[in-house]
Amino acid sequence: MNERPHLTGFTLTGLTEFLPTLGEPAYRGRQIFSALQHRRLLSFNEMSDLPKALRERLRETATASTLTVESRYVSEDGTRRFLMKTHDNLPVETVFIPEERRDTICFSSQSGCPLQCTFCLTAQLGLLRSLTPGEIVEQIIVALNDAYGVGEKPPRGTNLVGMGAGEPFLNFDSLLQAIRIMAEPQGLFIVPRRVTVSTAGVVPRIRDLATIHDRPNLAISLAAPTDELRDVLMPINKKWPLEELLAVCKEFEQTLKPGERFTFEYVMLDGVNDSDEQARQLANLLNRYDLHAKVNLIPHNSAAPLPYQPSPATRVEMFKAILESKGIHSFVRKPRGRDIFAACGQLAAVTQTVGVITNSSVGLEQL
Ligand code: SF4
Repeated sequence: MNERPHLTGFTLTGLTEFLPTLGEPAYRGRQIFSALQHRRLLSFNEMSDLPKALRERLRETATASTLTVESRYVSEDGTRRFLMKTHDNLPVETVFIPEERRDTICFSSQSGCPLQCTFCLTAQLGLLRSLTPGEIVEQIIVALNDAYGVGEKPPRGTNLVGMGAGEPFLNFDSLLQAIRIMAEPQGLFIVPRRVTVSTAGVVPRIRDLATIHDRPNLAISLAAPTDELRDVLMPINKKWPLEELLAVCKEFEQTLKPGERFTFEYVMLDGVNDSDEQARQLANLLNRYDLHAKVNLIPHNSAAPLPYQPSPATRVEMFKAILESKGIHSFVRKPRGRDIFAACGQLAAVTQTVGVITNSSVGLEQL
């Protein structure tokens, strides 16, 4: 077990308070924060602006990195998928998606997931454990260093989405701490409005998020327009049914600030939730609560052994047209990284055998 403090999960203030406990001045904390979060160094050895004795002391008493990259896959479309392991050997998956004007990094908040969404491979792992703030932040550092080189400034902005493994709102405090760390101008400087967190519908935490000033954008995964179907696809619905979920969504929507994004996600499963009638039910449901959030339609990504197929493109378009005709703005999300099993619902911590892939087992220092 790794019981040493993981300094990548410390805020700037936390580090300036921690260093004096080692008999060092507080400004060393600022130096270390900048080395970890701005220069993205994940080894104390590389922090050459620190005295050698301090670097040795830090190596003995703390750690900068606890994740190890086990496998790395690169898709034909440039998407990169990382399968990492925690110090206690649990899987963590992260996906880097380059786009013309920005990059998006999809991070995991838990290893495995306790929720049992039937269209998602991660569900089959169960919950292994929630990730620490440091393990969340480190995923972003690993992905950026891999794409651009250690400490190199990304040429485009970075967006983050908490849509990897796990239910982020069941790891709420660590998630918020990670978001605070990443927002720091002296570090990664990825501000909360560039972060979107997706929840399966943990109602009390949506209510909590509504009270937070500097918060990430919210996405709610719906997957079904009726309780009957949602109970099957997303069993969390039995605890917080649609009526409760949409009521809290309305409360949340009333707290939105200019520029903030609030969306619904709807995975499209062939013959299950994609009929014309279900499109009308979904539109009526959102209109009944007077919700103005956009609906992202996500073509399902097949993943054996799950019993679902993606809706055909024509069906997705028809579904979208019905939503639009009833005043619901919708958008069809383009799948990325399907050839490396990096797409939504495909993260299951397994090492697949696929083509056009670099599958290497490397330590962080080698990236
Ligand atoms: S879809 Fe999200 S919340 Fe549902 S089981 Fe998968 S990881 Fe968990």
